[in-house]
Amino acid sequence: MRLWAVTPLPLARTATTRPIRGALAAPGIPFAAGATVRRRLLSPYTDWALASVLALFVWAAPALAAPVAYVGATLIDGTGDAPVAEATVIVDGGRIVAAGPSSSTPVPADAERLDVRGKWLLPGLIDAHIHFFQSGGAFARPDILDLRALRPYPDEGAAVRAALPQTLARTLASGITSVVDAGGPFWTFDVRDLAETLAVAPRVAVAGPLLTPRFPPQLATDDPPMIQIAAVEQALVEARRVLARKPDLLKIWFIEASTDMVAEQRWIAAVMQEAHAVGVRVAVHATDLRLARAAVDLGADILVHSVDDAVADAQFFFGLHARGVVYTPTLAVTQNYSRALGLSFVPSAAESRLGDPAAIQSIRALAQMPPSQRPAGVRPAAAAPLNANMVVNLRRAREAGVVIAAGSDAGNIGTLHGPGLHREMELMVVAGMTPMQVLVAATKGSAVVLGRSDVGTVEAGKLADLLLLDADPLVDIRNTSRIFAVVRGGTRHDPNVILQSLR
Ligand SMILES: [Zn+2]
Repeated sequence: MRLWAVTPLPLARTATTRPIRGALAAPGIPFAAGATVRRRLLSPYTDWALASVLALFVWAAPALAAPVAYVGATLIDGTGDAPVAEATVIVDGGRIVAAGPSSSTPVPADAERLDVRGKWLLPGLIDAHIHFFQSGGAFARPDILDLRALRPYPDEGAAVRAALPQTLARTLASGITSVVDAGGPFWTFDVRDLAETLAVAPRVAVAGPLLTPRFPPQLATDDPPMIQIAAVEQALVEARRVLARKPDLLKIWFIEASTDMVAEQRWIAAVMQEAHAVGVRVAVHATDLRLARAAVDLGADILVHSVDDAVADAQFFFGLHARGVVYTPTLAVTQNYSRALGLSFVPSAAESRLGDPAAIQSIRALAQMPPSQRPAGVRPAAAAPLNANMVVNLRRAREAGVVIAAGSDAGNIGTLHGPGLHREMELMVVAGMTPMQVLVAATKGSAVVLGRSDVGTVEAGKLADLLLLDADPLVDIRNTSRIFAVVRGGTRHDPNVILQSLR
């Protein structure tokens, strides 16, 4: 296969920093000063070692000393309660100390008072399903779209790791203050640590390598994203190896990989017991009703995808509710694959502004390949419609009172880190949820998957992870990407300044 003209990227050797300054911020509100983010001169070809060294020079902004009062915004607190039209939220030491109607929420005398009338104040968004080992671009999954002749898979992995500070910054600029990495190489544990050292990054929860009955050989590396399991004893050895890294959750890819489903379920049950014994929850990929039902019976805590092959009966969803299993519909990723492979990928306004341009370009380049050189699976086709079973199952899950989380599966081909969640939320509305229900899912619901009770709502005592919007998300869910400011742990960021620093 010949190289297509558009793809090769320049090999960058240098990087510079640019401070985030209030001068670049929107007037009226000061933003974090003194913090720096890595400017995007690191191409995806730059090696990980260089990025690791550079990451040491990126430091966290100090928490603001005085309490801060956000006064006048419409508060949508993430609990599902009605919005508060004229609200005051007081933040001190990185935490929310008061939130409510301005009439009954006095501003302390020593507080810095910020007039945010005309804005909407929400909890920071939480993407409950992403994969840092995947870029969202065309090279992300050679087992699905094999472009290894253009870029060997280890090179793609190195590029993805080199770009992690940018990926984290883009995620925060998208209003996302926490993410859950639902499976990837052992190095994803380092991303959790990295995110704590960077000023411009979300909080990160990590599952580590997926345990799977089938391993796609195209994904083989010296630190693969998944570990193939054949028997109980081996499953326990591998589960313990992952658990030793203190994952926030464990992930099992539950697919029908052989005719011996009894053996498969036996090791899955053993892994679940092992994880639960040390207080680690288990997230399961199970998209067939039969497998999802089995996963829940075996003890799954989180379903990371919709059931898509059939409409499940109400009993299934009452079972999820009774056991406290979280249902993450993950609606958009299938459609996103079909848009990329069907050459109908057109980035939304949010994706163009917030997404990784290299990932977007790699997908657009598919359409520019001569038809005779298109790889297997790539041909012009309309994007897949929203799966009707998914729509009905989501409605039934809601009706049964199941906790719904919002997860994009970002990193898969066509699902971009950051704006991928906005596309997912849009589709959740198309699937019948109200914007308020979607916002609750993407904050309070996703916080359950994250495994933290100190984020996800705007309430006294919670961490100050906030989102300030320029337009009403209850009128149009797409307004969640019209971000005035994003606050993590009390530190304010202007998304435009973050994005400028990445250019
Ligand atoms: Zn996934």
